Amino acid sequence: CGIIGRVGTDQALESLLTGLENLEYRGYDSAGIAVQNGAGIKIQKRSGNVSELKQSLDSSLLTGEVGIGHTRWSTHGPPTDENAHPHTDSTEDVAVVHNGIIENYSELKADLRAEGHQFTSDTDTEVIPHLIQRYLDRGMDSEAAFRRSVDDLEGSYALAAMVADEHVLYAARQGSPLVVGLGQDDGVFLASDVPAFLEYTDTVVYLEDGDVAIVRPEGVEFTDLEGRLIERTPETIQWDP
Ligand code: GLU
Repeated sequence: CGIIGRVGTDQALESLLTGLENLEYRGYDSAGIAVQNGAGIKIQKRSGNVSELKQSLDSSLLTGEVGIGHTRWSTHGPPTDENAHPHTDSTEDVAVVHNGIIENYSELKADLRAEGHQFTSDTDTEVIPHLIQRYLDRGMDSEAAFRRSVDDLEGSYALAAMVADEHVLYAARQGSPLVVGLGQDDGVFLASDVPAFLEYTDTVVYLEDGDVAIVRPEGVEFTDLEGRLIERTPETIQWDP
């Protein structure tokens, strides 16, 4: 339902929570956050609303300059803590948030299970971090592993992923909106909808279907699914609330 991501040079948690609150108007049943600080990915997620998430989280654990957050509107699996996003692979080296529906998730899940991957949720989304892990295990770098995984997906998606110990977010879209926000000193944002980060920046780049964005504090690179660079021009939002 709602996606927020942020890469910067200071703590991500506060702007991620603000982003989730700004997306609440869309409706949702669960919320969650993942951040990383070079010592692994830390996740807190639960069914219920953002203020419940906020009250339950231990902000001293959630340190890091890179993070993603999600408000979930369940399509596959009931609104439980386990089914809330972000989802990870078994080793928690990859975390993913997703809007939309992965139509071919049962086939992908069966293949991954046959390869030894273990699943902890009922969601269609959980196949994505496991796919990325599969391609990392095959020796691809994270950018290649992300693109290869996206190429395996059928359906509609906006997604944001991060890999442990990397100061970068990976994003892709097909049939579900996703926008990058280019902050000045506040880092670079990623969201399903501009209001998520509008108090930090009004300079945005909309992803188009088939785009992959590689988001770093110093800027964003856009490619197609084959890895060819694409030009995407930033625009300034004129927003009438
Ligand atoms: N299909 C995913 C799920 O059920 C994502 C739903 C959403 O867009 O929030 O978890």
